[in-house]
Amino acid sequence: MQQDLRRKIISDFPLCYPNYVSIDVGDGWLNLVYETSYKLEEVIKKANLEIVEPPEDDDLFYFSSFEVIQVKSKYAGLRIYMSTETEEMSKIIEEAELKASTMCEFCGEEGRMTKNHGWLTILCNLHDKEV
Ligand SMILES: [Zn+2]
Repeated sequence: MQQDLRRKIISDFPLCYPNYVSIDVGDGWLNLVYETSYKLEEVIKKANLEIVEPPEDDDLFYFSSFEVIQVKSKYAGLRIYMSTETEEMSKIIEEAELKASTMCEFCGEEGRMTKNHGWLTILCNLHDKEV
Protein backbone atom coordinates (compact mmCIF):
# COMPACT_ATOMS: atom_id res chain seq x y z
CA MET A 1 0.00 0.00 0.00
CA GLN A 2 1.40 3.32 -1.04
CA GLN A 3 0.39 5.32 2.02
CA ASP A 4 2.90 8.06 1.17
CA LEU A 5 1.22 8.82 -2.12
CA ARG A 6 -2.19 8.80 -0.42
CA ARG A 7 -0.94 11.33 2.12
CA LYS A 8 0.65 13.40 -0.66
CA ILE A 9 -2.65 13.61 -2.54
CA ILE A 10 -4.33 15.01 0.60
CA SER A 11 -1.53 17.43 1.46
CA ASP A 12 -0.75 18.70 -2.07
CA PHE A 13 -4.33 19.73 -2.78
CA PRO A 14 -5.72 21.58 0.23
CA LEU A 15 -8.69 22.97 -1.70
CA CYS A 16 -9.79 19.52 -2.82
CA TYR A 17 -9.17 18.00 0.60
CA PRO A 18 -9.67 20.58 3.37
CA ASN A 19 -10.84 17.66 5.49
CA TYR A 20 -9.24 14.24 5.69
CA VAL A 21 -10.62 11.81 3.14
CA SER A 22 -9.46 8.21 2.91
CA ILE A 23 -8.45 7.31 -0.63
CA ASP A 24 -10.06 3.89 -0.90
CA VAL A 25 -8.72 2.67 -4.23
CA GLY A 26 -5.95 0.26 -5.20
CA ASP A 27 -2.38 1.50 -5.69
CA GLY A 28 -2.73 1.24 -9.49
CA TRP A 29 -5.17 4.13 -9.54
CA LEU A 30 -3.31 6.50 -7.21
CA ASN A 31 -1.44 8.35 -9.98
CA LEU A 32 -4.73 8.88 -11.76
CA VAL A 33 -6.32 10.19 -8.55
CA TYR A 34 -3.32 12.50 -8.09
CA GLU A 35 -3.61 13.83 -11.65
CA THR A 36 -7.36 14.30 -11.27
CA SER A 37 -6.99 16.09 -7.93
CA TYR A 38 -4.45 18.40 -9.54
CA LYS A 39 -6.93 19.34 -12.26
CA LEU A 40 -9.76 19.77 -9.76
CA GLU A 41 -7.58 21.96 -7.53
CA GLU A 42 -7.01 24.37 -10.44
CA VAL A 43 -10.70 24.50 -11.30
CA ILE A 44 -11.71 24.99 -7.66
CA LYS A 45 -9.25 27.88 -7.42
CA LYS A 46 -10.91 29.50 -10.40
CA ALA A 47 -14.43 28.78 -9.18
CA ASN A 48 -13.67 30.26 -5.75
CA LEU A 49 -12.50 33.47 -7.40
CA GLU A 50 -15.74 33.72 -9.34
CA ILE A 51 -17.68 33.28 -6.12
CA VAL A 52 -16.08 36.39 -4.64
CA GLU A 53 -18.16 38.39 -7.09
CA PRO A 54 -20.96 36.11 -8.15
CA PRO A 55 -23.23 36.96 -10.98
CA GLU A 56 -26.82 37.68 -9.92
CA ASP A 57 -28.91 34.66 -8.94
CA ASP A 58 -26.06 32.24 -9.40
CA ASP A 59 -26.82 29.12 -7.37
CA LEU A 60 -23.14 28.40 -6.89
CA PHE A 61 -22.88 31.45 -4.71
CA TYR A 62 -24.65 29.60 -1.93
CA PHE A 63 -21.99 26.92 -1.77
CA SER A 64 -18.93 28.27 -0.07
CA SER A 65 -16.68 25.37 -0.88
CA PHE A 66 -16.08 22.72 -3.46
CA GLU A 67 -14.41 19.75 -1.86
CA VAL A 68 -13.85 16.08 -2.46
CA ILE A 69 -15.71 14.05 0.15
CA GLN A 70 -15.06 10.51 -1.04
CA VAL A 71 -12.67 8.61 -3.31
CA LYS A 72 -13.37 4.92 -3.67
CA SER A 73 -13.73 2.00 -5.95
CA LYS A 74 -17.26 0.72 -6.46
CA TYR A 75 -18.45 -2.00 -8.85
CA ALA A 76 -14.97 -1.97 -10.43
CA GLY A 77 -15.25 1.75 -11.10
CA LEU A 78 -13.43 4.76 -9.72
CA ARG A 79 -15.78 7.09 -7.85
CA ILE A 80 -14.89 10.62 -6.83
CA TYR A 81 -17.63 12.43 -4.96
CA MET A 82 -17.62 16.15 -4.26
CA SER A 83 -19.72 18.25 -1.90
CA THR A 84 -20.86 20.19 -4.92
CA GLU A 85 -19.39 20.53 -8.38
CA THR A 86 -19.53 22.64 -11.49
CA GLU A 87 -19.95 21.17 -14.96
CA GLU A 88 -16.20 21.52 -15.51
CA MET A 89 -15.47 19.51 -12.36
CA SER A 90 -17.96 16.81 -13.36
CA LYS A 91 -16.20 16.50 -16.70
CA ILE A 92 -12.79 16.04 -15.08
CA ILE A 93 -14.23 13.34 -12.80
CA GLU A 94 -15.97 11.59 -15.70
CA GLU A 95 -12.71 11.49 -17.66
CA ALA A 96 -10.90 9.95 -14.71
CA GLU A 97 -13.62 7.35 -14.23
CA LEU A 98 -13.38 6.45 -17.91
CA LYS A 99 -9.58 6.09 -17.72
CA ALA A 100 -9.84 3.91 -14.62
CA SER A 101 -12.22 1.56 -16.41
CA THR A 102 -9.31 0.13 -18.44
CA MET A 103 -6.58 0.47 -15.79
CA CYS A 104 -5.45 -2.34 -13.49
CA GLU A 105 -6.31 -1.31 -9.94
CA PHE A 106 -3.19 -3.05 -8.65
CA CYS A 107 -0.50 -1.68 -10.97
CA GLY A 108 -1.99 0.88 -13.36
CA GLU A 109 -1.26 -1.11 -16.50
CA GLU A 110 -3.93 -1.72 -19.09
CA GLY A 111 -6.62 -3.99 -17.70
CA ARG A 112 -10.15 -5.16 -18.10
CA MET A 113 -13.05 -5.98 -15.84
CA THR A 114 -12.74 -9.37 -14.20
CA LYS A 115 -14.22 -11.22 -11.27
CA ASN A 116 -11.93 -11.55 -8.28
CA HIS A 117 -13.29 -13.63 -5.38
CA GLY A 118 -16.78 -12.59 -6.38
CA TRP A 119 -15.84 -8.91 -6.67
CA LEU A 120 -15.64 -7.09 -9.98
CA THR A 121 -12.22 -5.49 -10.42
CA ILE A 122 -10.19 -4.07 -13.28
CA LEU A 123 -7.04 -6.16 -13.61
CA CYS A 124 -4.23 -6.59 -16.12
CA ASN A 125 -3.30 -10.06 -17.41
CA LEU A 126 -0.55 -10.45 -14.83
CA HIS A 127 -2.66 -9.60 -11.78
CA ASP A 128 -5.67 -11.48 -13.09
CA LYS A 129 -3.60 -14.66 -12.69
CA GLU A 130 -2.17 -13.78 -9.30
CA VAL A 131 -5.28 -12.89 -7.34
ZN1 LIG B 1 -1.77 -5.20 -12.86
